[in-house]
Amino acid sequence: MSTSVTDRAESPQDQRNQKIVVRDLEKAFGDNLVLKGITTDVHEGEVVCVIGPSGSGKSTFLRCLNRLEDVTAGSVSVSGYDLTDPKVDINAVRQHIGMVFQHFNLFPHMTVAENIMLAPTEVKKLSKSEAKEAALRLLDRVGLKDKADARPASLSGGQKQRVAIARALAMNPDIMLFDEATSALDPEMVGEVLQVIRDLAESGMTLVLVTHEMGFAREVCDRVMFMSDGSIIEDGDPEQIFENPQQPRLQDFLSKVL
Ligand code: ADP
Ligand code: MG
Repeated sequence: MSTSVTDRAESPQDQRNQKIVVRDLEKAFGDNLVLKGITTDVHEGEVVCVIGPSGSGKSTFLRCLNRLEDVTAGSVSVSGYDLTDPKVDINAVRQHIGMVFQHFNLFPHMTVAENIMLAPTEVKKLSKSEAKEAALRLLDRVGLKDKADARPASLSGGQKQRVAIARALAMNPDIMLFDEATSALDPEMVGEVLQVIRDLAESGMTLVLVTHEMGFAREVCDRVMFMSDGSIIEDGDPEQIFENPQQPRLQDFLSKVL
């Protein structure tokens, strides 16, 4: 089922396809309970930003969505796969959900195109020529077609991050997770990466982004979640979160970052 841009953000209880369903999610590291019962849904085509202070559990939450972390209690399902089912095919799940990190982790000994072709040829068993064609299309999409044969070391940080996004898109995911994708970049490179993310948002892809870019969150996201101390303590449309925050902890956070 597809969702048009115009009917997004309307009734939250409607029948749209839920891409991510999280119920009472808890995550502990030893006796440190880091996620304290998170319940939320993300619909197909929705663009959700997660904001909150350092250490509040934002990265851990994202990592539970593609099972980079095992959950301690509660349930997470993504694109119809129950991640808490020990029998779930985690490789199949990860084909539906791409992730981009603060640090790009490109393979330095491979060209840009080879980095992007790796998972499609290894996991999806595409032929080299099919994978190359797809890689060139994706590089065009992120504005880097002329860098196909370059090595990552010759690229700027912003270019590397755009390659990392293209690499995640190469598996044709229906959900993309971004964990502070612009935090490690020099300020002049932030805009080019945000523009690529904005294009993905406009294409109707389901996105969950942890970000410190409050202007971006306000403009591009359908919904903003504020996390504090392992819980989502406020969740609403950007206008409500930024113009009319209810919780003192959110008011305090915004007074520091805006
Ligand atoms: P945020 O992304 O909001 O800064 P994190 O999810 O990274 O927060 O971290 C939340 C808490 O979980 C922190 O107290 C952090 O030290 C702890 N934590 C995160 N990952 C691990 C880990 N692999 N082992 C132990 N503790 C962790
Ligand atoms: Mg983090």
